[in-house]
Amino acid sequence: MVKWKFDNQPSAKEEYYSTRGRANLLRQALNSPNPIQEFASEELKKTLDLCLSCKGCKSECPANVDMARFKAEFLHHYHNKKGIGFKTRLIRHYALILSLGAKFPRITNRLAKNPWLKKRLQVERQLPSLSTQSLKSWWKQHSTKNRAKRQVILLCDIFTQYHEPQIAQAAIQFLEHNGYAIIPIFLTDSPRFLISQGLLKQAKKALGDIIEHCYDLVKSGISLIGLEPSELLTLRDEAIDLVEANQRDKMRSLSENAKLFEEFILQEISVGNIDTSDFKIKKQALILHVHCHQKSLVGIDTSIQALKQLPGTTVTALQTGCCGMSGAFGYEHYDISMKIGEMQLFPAIRQAPDNALIVATGTSCRHQIADGVATTALHPAQIFWNHVN
Ligand code: SF4
Repeated sequence: MVKWKFDNQPSAKEEYYSTRGRANLLRQALNSPNPIQEFASEELKKTLDLCLSCKGCKSECPANVDMARFKAEFLHHYHNKKGIGFKTRLIRHYALILSLGAKFPRITNRLAKNPWLKKRLQVERQLPSLSTQSLKSWWKQHSTKNRAKRQVILLCDIFTQYHEPQIAQAAIQFLEHNGYAIIPIFLTDSPRFLISQGLLKQAKKALGDIIEHCYDLVKSGISLIGLEPSELLTLRDEAIDLVEANQRDKMRSLSENAKLFEEFILQEISVGNIDTSDFKIKKQALILHVHCHQKSLVGIDTSIQALKQLPGTTVTALQTGCCGMSGAFGYEHYDISMKIGEMQLFPAIRQAPDNALIVATGTSCRHQIADGVATTALHPAQIFWNHVN
């Protein structure tokens, strides 16, 4: 696994904003006579505010401190004490906003560019635009002539459904081409987005919905795959501790069978279910940036090895830390977010050969790359589909 530098914010030079500084403040709060009272502390909120929840510390810190998890827990108590602010409310209802906006995508996209609205929301960067056709709408019209020999569940997160349905379309068509019947599960909320904002009650409900839709299918032996690392890996990380005690065994079973797209492809190639001789040879240089949670929880080798199965490709994995976007962080702290991007990721992409394709596994990373270096980054599923299409 490539080592990557954690706590890579410029501001982290100050002890106060370092992982150690944050951990010390949290320890003081927990050891105080009234910890719950301390969890409404503005000082603690300020220091945690600049934590990207990237989980770099979980793998790189010798004590494996998972500051992202602490931050979520802190925000949960903070909201309980002080109420939920306007922006957090918007994030809480983001999935609903997307589903309503998707009925009139062109109007919604025009509205999202409105300077008054952006000022009201205090966002300096462009809000992500909606696709003119949602994944669900495309799926209803979709048919395939391929004969299916196996089934696979595709967890369709809200970002893929509404912002980047072309990624799921590529994954679906690639898998169908290889003899899989797809069972799409269209999520109606984002557990990861909710957890990152400390909306733990809502995240618990969203995870319960995933159990309800997927458990029986997974129990019958069908694999569960996801395209967005932060969403899929939530099932293997916080979800087991977050769901109700009586759902824990079911969530554990889901987590053991939940795989990233690249993990699934490698597994299926190794057992002969996907035939690599069917892949077209395409001379391609791929420059790969892997999502932070994937780096921390899985490592980057899986994505590299999967892409190397494609004949004619060379894969260069960037030795970069967090892209700086990290979901809502890049909107709330635009300047810091762009400075983090400029530390490693943006210069590395600018130096890439002109004909290289940029591949980024996370939706936030792709958005940050588009904003920072005006380049469209692709998901590995799109590269795989290109090799059989
Ligand atoms: S989650 Fe990332 S930004 Fe937050 S303390 Fe850990 S390494 Fe630093």
